[in-house]
Amino acid sequence: MILQYKNALNLLYGGKIGDILYDFAIELCEKSFKNKISPEIPIILTTAMSPYNRFAGWYSDKSHTIELARHYCYHGSDGIRARSIPEMLATLAHEFCHVYQYQVLGGRISARGPHRCKSWYQSITLASPFVCGVDIEGICIPSKSVREGEKVYKVNNPNSLTEVELTHFPDSIIKLAKADDRRLKGRLVGKPAV
Ligand SMILES: [Zn+2]
Repeated sequence: MILQYKNALNLLYGGKIGDILYDFAIELCEKSFKNKISPEIPIILTTAMSPYNRFAGWYSDKSHTIELARHYCYHGSDGIRARSIPEMLATLAHEFCHVYQYQVLGGRISARGPHRCKSWYQSITLASPFVCGVDIEGICIPSKSVREGEKVYKVNNPNSLTEVELTHFPDSIIKLAKADDRRLKGRLVGKPAV
């Protein structure tokens, strides 16, 4: 089946894009997710805006498709073509984390959306060593509860990645690693895959 998906993408979008995207997906599913999710998901390139408009990709658990939106494609004379492969792969990695979040972790997302919850943090912690070359285990706790007498309130955890950084996985983490961010000290485990 995966061969058919590959061929379909190669045919539709040219440039062996099917091979590139699915070979990456195969490696990602194996190395990050121990094949608990399958790379056999239809990937669609579209020059349309995403329904969440500023986002570059999205995963629909209902239709079980990943769409890569117009940020990475253009409409050429011979059809839709890829603009930037590295950026596409980064977005694909992000979307596959949502696949894991839904399929393996049961889609348990918080009222504050799919990027501000334990299931997201768990998914990207698995993906980060391969995708970003960084181990982020234990630093996905953006706020912690502090008790003061009877009162319990939340404070920012300075040793954790922030909610915004965790939302923008993997680009944010790769950028922080390049900038020698102090929270990632001693956590580099290899070269980023994207
Ligand atoms: Zn997302």
